Amino acid sequence: ILFCFVYTIQVIFRQKKVGEMKTDFINNMTHEFKTPIATISLAADSIISPKISAEPEKVRRFADIIKQENKRMNNQVEKVLQMALLDKNDFTLNLIDVDMHMLIEQATRNLTLAVEKKNGRVSTHLKAEKSVIKGDMTHISNVINNLMENANKYSPEKPEISIHTRNVVNGIEVIVQDKGIGMSKEAKKHIFDKFYRVHTGNLHDVKGFGLGLSYVKAMMVAHKGEIEVKSELGKGSSFILTFPFQTEL
Ligand code: ADP
Repeated sequence: ILFCFVYTIQVIFRQKKVGEMKTDFINNMTHEFKTPIATISLAADSIISPKISAEPEKVRRFADIIKQENKRMNNQVEKVLQMALLDKNDFTLNLIDVDMHMLIEQATRNLTLAVEKKNGRVSTHLKAEKSVIKGDMTHISNVINNLMENANKYSPEKPEISIHTRNVVNGIEVIVQDKGIGMSKEAKKHIFDKFYRVHTGNLHDVKGFGLGLSYVKAMMVAHKGEIEVKSELGKGSSFILTFPFQTEL
């Protein structure tokens, strides 16, 4: 009887947690789509207004805004679809030669503007002599971008992000380090779970679906690599990735 009781309580708690995660996800999703939809609507209204439509320069600016917001929504949908694909194990890796240093430099360029806006900086220390591995370019690029975006997202003031690489036995190690909010031991245990997000008090303070790291983990497993996280609350986090040179499927 005692066993049944403990088991039932456990199941109830788990269900409750899943329920809460679902609600959070829906709230986040609604929020993430509401903003671009509102922006697009405003921009379209402006273009329609006769005052603006007479000035090609302004029309162009609003059209750019529409395009940008559309891209943002597309990225969000893409993220959710990627996860659905992983769930069904319905993906194949397109293995080619991937230069990690090139991907890191590209991701750094993508992020620099956003980081500089917060008066922070991104630095690279690319020490690996052999930087080419066999992997899926798109997925590896997403992995690096996701980690770097998180490093920025979870550094509220002056982000200091650094990326290190070095060669290890039969592969390459990539470290994405930040000096942001860090994580508790409890959070560290769950960050790779789907939909998991650390509650920061205000749910919409930092945007996200809680899908990024579970995707990163799934991709590291698919590439026969490893991922480890070191983090201390208030001090920052480091994500340590190890990619083998060859991924045998
Ligand atoms: P999202 O960022 O969309 O919430 P992720 O799966 O990328 O989802 O991350 C899960 C959670 O892990 C985040 O909500 C955040 O609480 C925590 N986290 C991830 N990266 C970092 C980081 N660099 N520093 C502190 N916390 C992080």
